[in-house]
Amino acid sequence: MCGVVGITGNENATKILVHGLEKLQYRGYDSAGIFVDDQAGSNFLVKTTGSIADLNEKITPEVQGTAGIGHTRWATHGGVTTENAHPQFSDDNRFYLVHNGVIENYQELKDEYLQDVKFHSQTDTEVIVQLVDKFSKEGLSTKDAFKKTISLLKNASYAFLLMDKEDPETLYVAKNKSPLLIGLGDHCNVVCSDSIAMLDVTNTFMEIQDGDVCIVKPDSVQVYDQAGELSERKHFEVNVDPSDSEKGTYPYYMLKEIDEQPNVMRKLAKEYLDENGKPVINDQLLKAMSQADRFYIVGAGTSYHAGLVGKKQLEALTGIPTEVHVASEFAYEKPLLSEKPFFIFLSQSGETADSRQVLVNVNAKKLPSLTITNVANSTLSREADFTLLLNAGPEISVASTKAYTAQIALEAIVAKAVGMSKGNQKATDFDLKYQLGLIATEMQSLVEEKEIINQVSKDYFVDAKQAFYIGRGVDYTVSLESALKLKEISYVHAEGFASGELKHGTIALIEEGTPVIGIITQDDTAGLTRSNLAETAARGAKTLAIAKKSLAKPEDTFVIADVDELLTPLLSVIPAQLLAYYTSLNKGLNVDLPRNLAKSVTVE
Ligand code: GLU
Repeated sequence: MCGVVGITGNENATKILVHGLEKLQYRGYDSAGIFVDDQAGSNFLVKTTGSIADLNEKITPEVQGTAGIGHTRWATHGGVTTENAHPQFSDDNRFYLVHNGVIENYQELKDEYLQDVKFHSQTDTEVIVQLVDKFSKEGLSTKDAFKKTISLLKNASYAFLLMDKEDPETLYVAKNKSPLLIGLGDHCNVVCSDSIAMLDVTNTFMEIQDGDVCIVKPDSVQVYDQAGELSERKHFEVNVDPSDSEKGTYPYYMLKEIDEQPNVMRKLAKEYLDENGKPVINDQLLKAMSQADRFYIVGAGTSYHAGLVGKKQLEALTGIPTEVHVASEFAYEKPLLSEKPFFIFLSQSGETADSRQVLVNVNAKKLPSLTITNVANSTLSREADFTLLLNAGPEISVASTKAYTAQIALEAIVAKAVGMSKGNQKATDFDLKYQLGLIATEMQSLVEEKEIINQVSKDYFVDAKQAFYIGRGVDYTVSLESALKLKEISYVHAEGFASGELKHGTIALIEEGTPVIGIITQDDTAGLTRSNLAETAARGAKTLAIAKKSLAKPEDTFVIADVDELLTPLLSVIPAQLLAYYTSLNKGLNVDLPRNLAKSVTVE
């Protein structure tokens, strides 16, 4: 899940690589390293555990070059040590390699080919660079040694950038499953996991495909496809303002991204609804969705939770049954599909490996699909039949906030559009334009309640060992997301629970002082959830409520506006996002870069 960067043909290689790694840090941040070569006989390898700031401290002024590679790691094989940080290198120090992904058969390769070679790390990656070295010593060119090594890999995911000290202006690049782009500059080319890393150098990028091997020099890029043929690959422009990915005056990206949500709602309404409030959605997509007899929503983590809300919206407005699946489970099940399934992939990054594996299966069966993502030209976007973009601006903080609410709003727009095309009156009457406008205003008021939420965090959560969010129906789905936020960044063990299910076992965990938050926004079940909340209070829980105005009691801590029941998650989640934020902050943790996590989960 790490980030990789490479550059050739620029005398500021060190600075550009480090800046690129800072931008990619959301992908992994347990250790980092760079290798640069000045093509005048000097080269430097700098590695460290910790963040890019730690790496920067180790980079002395003489570490300069015109070509180089860099890596920010999320360890899969081998602990977090300087030796295991990338770049990995061959025993004779000729080849240097960074890698995003996993080599499943690395041990077999080591046993078969590299018995006599001295290893310097415990990573799966090192096997690759040692194999290239071995094959080059046997007489192959670097390109052929690289290709031969790749041909031996089984079930591997990789984005590789390889440098050969004997030809330091060339980057040898290969990709399978892991994201990788080549950026085209002026007498300078770059390689990166995400375009955001290199927008200061170029905004023209080249898609490379699984199985491609590329030779990148300052003035040329050659792409060889899986069959070894020289191939052309499409170019595309990335139109993101690099300053969108800056924190500005905010202490953490997460707070900035929470605050951006009202604007994201307005932007989505502007982009996808016409002046009469009718959805503006591609006709072919609408046709394909209207013909389906069942929707299958696929996602992971927060996107999965957004999918649970989407199911309710789609079923209510289109009448088409909808299933929601955790991608990593669904990829290896043998699902009994309906006769006319339609797949909807939700992924902030568009690179989630688990979801991508499902899409590979779906494409093999030639079934129709839509990706809803925040990142144009991402893998899931390229490989699905249709894409709808969230246009929420870069989401950098590992804990997702604005992508969740954007996904829910866009799912509602799609549900309305498909419902209308099927003549569903409820869909026609659903005044989404008004609702999204109201929600944007109400979100603004909620994000301004920071002081109150900070105080609640201190009173209820900072010293808590565990916490529960409970609700029914759509409120239950928001409970899941709210608990996930708290777990991810504050490390308080939290569960989201169907409130009626609590007394079938889990209520045994409630102790004196356990915080329990009830989410109460649905008319039919509000009374029941209130009773369940009272049952926990009777057993010592410190209870709080996030309630819709018409269902609220004077003692409720958070009151949200009376918006349509299909859209209440857009408001009820905001206090939960901020509670997680302040609990993390009050515990002195790094809000944006929580332990053990990475944002874009590009390994299965
Ligand atoms: N498997 C490699 C390692 O553990 C790369 C992991 C990654 O993609 O961050 O070092």
